Amino acid sequence: MTPKKKTAYISLQHVTKNFLLTSGIFTALDDINIDFRSSEFTCVVGRSGSGKSTLMNMITGIDKPTDGKIVVAGKPIQDFTENERARWRGENLGIVFQFYQLIPVLSLLENVMLPMQLLGKTDLSKIEKKALRLLAAVNLEDQAHQRPEKASGGQQQCAAIARALANDPPILIADEPTGNLGSEDATMVLGIFIDLVKKGKTVIMVTHDDDLAKQADRTLRLSDGRVVGDSNHAHRKTIARSRKSSHAE
Ligand code: ADP
Ligand code: MG
Repeated sequence: MTPKKKTAYISLQHVTKNFLLTSGIFTALDDINIDFRSSEFTCVVGRSGSGKSTLMNMITGIDKPTDGKIVVAGKPIQDFTENERARWRGENLGIVFQFYQLIPVLSLLENVMLPMQLLGKTDLSKIEKKALRLLAAVNLEDQAHQRPEKASGGQQQCAAIARALANDPPILIADEPTGNLGSEDATMVLGIFIDLVKKGKTVIMVTHDDDLAKQADRTLRLSDGRVVGDSNHAHRKTIARSRKSSHAE
């Protein structure tokens, strides 16, 4: 059977982002052209200041490009009004941050319930059940009623991932999600992302850790706002497999 061809799902076309500084114009992203395919795990690497977070902000619609186009599942997201974009983000994107961004006065459970309530879902018992299921999937059912401060960094990040999944978004964007974690917790978080990709999610993760990045399907390297490397590990794995099987024949 021929493998299903993966089509461009998130497409950045000639994306440039300039910031106006008192010293003049600073180009943080310089004519970026990237296609992300669905159900693929991409890591974005590059030095601090290379434009990784700016790139993520373009995809999430948190910020707009100065030039160029971003198309997600056929929709040019920069054409949305602010309200349309907020709704679109709520339904389509889960976002995970380096410092978890959990709301400290809410329990982990309430944190995970919140995005569903923000999208206008009102059946509290249904929302609570779903949030508990999501927390159980990251082994946090016993901590559900605790506030974030009682949980370890790794647990808080797992709760933040559960929250990001609350509205079943097809896409997960994570900006340095392991940047504040020890290696054991980082490996755990990576394992969760790998499982989510197997279940069909599209994951884009910014990381400083080349060893973690190697485990993704693809690594994109940024330098001074340009893509300077794009290696597709999944492709390499497929080639290795097909070589092995042709030797076996
Ligand atoms: P990274 O995430 O790779 O560390 P960023 O995308 O945060 O890099 O930043 C890329 C460059 O753009 C940096 O030089 C940063 O100072 C600059 N930059 C980012 N956001 C702004 C902003 N809002 N105003 C001015 N400059 C910015
Ligand atoms: Mg950054």
